[in-house]
Amino acid sequence: MFSRKDRQDYLEFDESITALKEGEVNVDRFPLPFEPEVVTNCEHCDAELYDGDDGIIYGRETYCDEQCLADHLIDLGAAERVEVRK
Ligand SMILES: [Zn+2]
Repeated sequence: MFSRKDRQDYLEFDESITALKEGEVNVDRFPLPFEPEVVTNCEHCDAELYDGDDGIIYGRETYCDEQCLADHLIDLGAAERVEVRK
């Protein structure tokens, strides 16, 4: 059974959802429970990497993924993209 307070909370919640659906709501009223913390940036593309993200460490540098590491090595001249021939 809803108490009077529960009912009031529910009605306010329902109003908020309606406003959200109608695009009338200020999103600042619904802050994220936490701001994700940027731990580092990808050495190649500068993407922000957050706590818990997957990444690749090469030397002391962090990369998003295999593609960024490969592209970085190619840019440095440490690896080369070639047409494979027999
Ligand atoms: Zn990257």
